[in-house]
Amino acid sequence: MAQTTPNHTQTVSGWAAHDSSGKITPYVFKRRANGVNDLTIEIFYCGICHTDLHYARNDWGITMYPVVPGHEITGVITKIGSNVRGFKVGDRVGVGCLAASCLECEFCKSSQENYCDQTQFTYNGIFWDGSITYGGYSKFLVADHRYVVHIPDNLPLDAAAPLLCAGITVYSPMKENKMLESPGKKLGIIGLGGLGHIAVKFGKAFGLHVTIISTSPSKEKEAKQRLGADDFIVSTHPKQMEAKKRTLDFILDTASANHSLGNYLELLKVNGTLVVVGAPDKPMELPSFPLIFGKRTIKGSILGGMKETQEMMDVCGQRNIKSDIEVVKTDQINQALDRLSRNDVRYRFVIDIACKSAKM
Ligand SMILES: [Zn+2]
Ligand SMILES: [Zn+2]
Repeated sequence: MAQTTPNHTQTVSGWAAHDSSGKITPYVFKRRANGVNDLTIEIFYCGICHTDLHYARNDWGITMYPVVPGHEITGVITKIGSNVRGFKVGDRVGVGCLAASCLECEFCKSSQENYCDQTQFTYNGIFWDGSITYGGYSKFLVADHRYVVHIPDNLPLDAAAPLLCAGITVYSPMKENKMLESPGKKLGIIGLGGLGHIAVKFGKAFGLHVTIISTSPSKEKEAKQRLGADDFIVSTHPKQMEAKKRTLDFILDTASANHSLGNYLELLKVNGTLVVVGAPDKPMELPSFPLIFGKRTIKGSILGGMKETQEMMDVCGQRNIKSDIEVVKTDQINQALDRLSRNDVRYRFVIDIACKSAKM
């Protein structure tokens, strides 16, 4: 492992955390020269994901400092390698969490690169050439074209950025569990944050009955009026939870705070499924009775494959699905991370890397 290898000839300005204080400061580093399979992308925008905060502060004990976070990246292609097909200079594109995978295993061969056990992430990963990957809090990115998607013309690059992590994270399990082909079914979403608010949009776009399950009663009005949710349950309110037992077909659990699964499982009909996509850092309590008595299923899901990510992006273009964002300048990243740690954002911060927002 090395921070750079001899092929790293391009100097790039970015922003990095250098220790577990998580404070982000300007950082100049090297990226690899654009290889035959690579695209170079001028980064316009980068979303701020909760994962960025965890890595910046080394919450999971696996951060390799300095870390340049960011895996919700949008921009425009400035260079392409000789093997690249399907992209050209000037194309509007996005890069999410994946930087590399083995390309040979059953998952890579079936467009499920996200489940390859050699997957390397866009930052804090080790690329094929042995270098540490650096993410989208930077002026440009060199990415293998197999992990790049097109952004439809009608989607603005700022509001499209969060789709690359938050969007695909909720789209993939909804599709996998056939919720996108079952209008009228009842979808529950635990947590109304970056992931949850996009899940509401997919749910409504595909004709589902959408219920938000949240600890914050204050979010009810907005969930219904602004996002179009049909119902709202305050999870800390036992009577409300009791009244909604056995009403939902499917639950997406986006909550990253620690929580027990038992009461949520009770909301599912018999044979219902709960998919965990949030990442609480402690084990989740799982009482057996709600599982057994309702023949219910709990699954996990991470991101989506690249083919599916492109499909999701196209669906968002067709149905005009975008993230609700608050755009911040590069000198406001630390404030944004602080506010994110208090869930004080509706619903995703996006960094204006190229200072485009005034002109667009
Ligand atoms: Zn993310
Ligand atoms: Zn693989």
